[in-house]
Amino acid sequence: MVTAAATGRRPLPRGLILGVLQRAGCRVQDDGRDKIPICCPLPGHDDVRPSAFVNVVTNVLYCSAGCTGGRAWTTKALSEALGVPWPPPELRNRRVRTRGTSRPFGPADAATLWQAALRRALDDAYAEADRAAYEYLERRGLCAAWEHRAFGLVTEEMDVHPAARRWVPGGYRIAAPLFDVGTGEITNVQARCIIPNDPKVLVPKGSKMAGTAFANEAARALIRDPSGASGFVIVGEGLTDFLAFTISLGDATPIVCAPGAGGAPKAIGPWIRGLDLVVATDNDTAGAAVVQRVADEASRLGSRRTLRLSWPGGAKDACEMVEKYGAEGLHDAIRSRLPESRPRERSA
Ligand SMILES: [Zn+2]
Repeated sequence: MVTAAATGRRPLPRGLILGVLQRAGCRVQDDGRDKIPICCPLPGHDDVRPSAFVNVVTNVLYCSAGCTGGRAWTTKALSEALGVPWPPPELRNRRVRTRGTSRPFGPADAATLWQAALRRALDDAYAEADRAAYEYLERRGLCAAWEHRAFGLVTEEMDVHPAARRWVPGGYRIAAPLFDVGTGEITNVQARCIIPNDPKVLVPKGSKMAGTAFANEAARALIRDPSGASGFVIVGEGLTDFLAFTISLGDATPIVCAPGAGGAPKAIGPWIRGLDLVVATDNDTAGAAVVQRVADEASRLGSRRTLRLSWPGGAKDACEMVEKYGAEGLHDAIRSRLPESRPRERSA
């Protein structure tokens, strides 16, 4: 079902139709009922006893004498029939208010939000209050990402951007920063849901996702200054896979994860020149389909070669590897698949 929430449109305010009727000269009062009988206001009916009704919840009018053609009329259709301007002032005001509160979420907002989310995660005082989020991470073996400052937490009482406050009631509690893959600067923040939900992740409405990626310290250093770099870069997808790679490979190996599979080709930048690309997208249809596009883009930008990582034991992705075999298991799986170009040792 397509709901107002799913389309991003808000439902009309209760009783909006009454304002339209009053502006057309009809005497009608909101008496608290959802359905209010009224004399039909439509031209040509000259109704003397109430043969129509309005529904103030759905904001429609229905005339039982047939003026509305056996259907309920929307407030907009009614406005036009009565010659009342549309949209009414209530909606015009609402649009102005909406614009005021949902200003675009930009890099400065991302930096502020990420700092607040990270502070929250690093503060032991909130460990108990944020237990649900930590339990979610613990079940997946991802809690150690905390030591790498790879995730933050968002809660209702935090004074953060309105976009992020809206995440919390839906369970979108774990946050991680997205960096511009051309500059290495923070650009956006993605939130991951800790309860079953669709979608699993969110970014603020209207914020920039293309050309951004989760990137660890080594990757950001490489993006800012690729001169003299050697070895390989891991390119994967998704927030939880980023956490899995981070705890398995440490901070010295460059790790870049697109916010979703489709974004993986755009997560590559000129810094790939002369380096080996290790593609570690999901072991599913979307992940497999994107490998060639990632490889082509890297090759166009001068990468040395592309290796594809696939996971043993039917694991779907890096996160599942850690869940099944631990961080060591993922680390060993990567090492054994890169015979000529071994990752540096894990940082202690
Ligand atoms: Zn009528």
